[in-house]
Formats: sequence, C-alpha cells, structure tokens
Amino acid sequence: MTETEFNNSKLKVMLSAEQIKERIRQLGEQITNDYRGRDLLMIGVLKGACVFLSDLMRHIDLPMMVDFIAVTSYGAATKSSGEVRILKDSDASLRGRDVLIVEDIVDTGLTLSYLIDIFRRREAASVEIVAFLDKPERRIKHVDVKYVGFEIPNSFVVGYGLDYGERYRNLPFVGLVESLD
Ligand code: 5GP
Repeated sequence: MTETEFNNSKLKVMLSAEQIKERIRQLGEQITNDYRGRDLLMIGVLKGACVFLSDLMRHIDLPMMVDFIAVTSYGAATKSSGEVRILKDSDASLRGRDVLIVEDIVDTGLTLSYLIDIFRRREAASVEIVAFLDKPERRIKHVDVKYVGFEIPNSFVVGYGLDYGERYRNLPFVGLVESLD
C-alpha cells in the first residue's frame, strides 16, 4: 500500500481513485442491465454513501429517481439489538417500486437488515443493496448484498464518503489512517 499525506495526517492508500472509478463503471453497467424496464429508486444512506451514490448514478443509463435516508444506531449498548433510529426518512412513496439501497460500507449488517425490513413493509416491489465496501468478517446479521464494490479486511477505513469524526469524507481514495495531525 502506498503512503500519502492529507492535511498533515498520514494515510495508507487501500483503494486508489483509479481503481474506484473503474469498479463504479462496472457496477453502473451491471445495474443498468438488471434494472432495464423497471421502476428504479435509489435510496442513499447519509452521509457516508453520498460520494458513492453521486458517482454511481452517473453510470446508470436508465430513467431513475434518487432519494436519501439518514439513520443512526441507538449507541454501543444496544448495537447488537440492531435498533436503528431514522433521522431523516425517505420522501418518496416506495409502493410497487424497485428500491436499491446505496450504502457506503456493510460492517455488522445491522443497519441494512433494519432498512430492508422497513422498506419491505412499505410494499416496495423489490429491495436490493449496493454497497461500496464490504467487511464480511465483522458480520453479526446476515444480509444479502446484491452488488459490492470491494471486499476489504477488518480495518477502519476513511475517504470517498467515509469519515473519522466527520473528517476525511472528501478524500478521493480509500485509506487507512496511520496517524492524525
Ligand atoms: P453496520 O453494518 O455495522 O450496521 O454499520 C455500517 C456503518 O458503520 C457504515 O454505514 C459506516 O457509517 C460505519 N462504518 C463501519 N465500518 C466503517 C469503517 O471502516 N470506516 C468508517 N468510516 N465507517 C465505518
């Protein structure tokens, strides 16, 4: 892994901007083929998925709509229960639509299994997931993730939408934080 500096923090590049660009082009092509003739509604999970969603949607060559949801888990004590609080709900009606949840990273799987449940209850025609990153080693709850950008080992990563204390979201690559400024 190459080392780099960003605002005086040392970072190791895990996925370069070029690697990400190429993989997103492939995912866009796959989603375009799979959703042709359907009623695609992409729902991005704020804030982490905003960079991934905005790049991915420009590689989807279909009529589609986009919406956002913001969630937070109830905190460490109740994390394993999978309780998630909605901070901002989606505005669109999901009934009969083909919902594609856009997530930055699947870790324990608790957030996504909660979202799948509530979207299914709203009578979406289908609910699938596209995740930029997947850390399968950390899974507590099984979730079927239809599209995955990259599988990564169990380490804390930042960049390309992912934060550490709200910073680093603007990095054009995915990195491991080695030291902070
Ligand atoms: P889970 O799958 O555990 O319910 O939660 C996934 C959420 O945890 C992600 O949407 C992300 O906000 C956060 N998360 C998990 N792993 C990482 C990581 O390596 N880096 C960052 N920045 N956030 C992570």
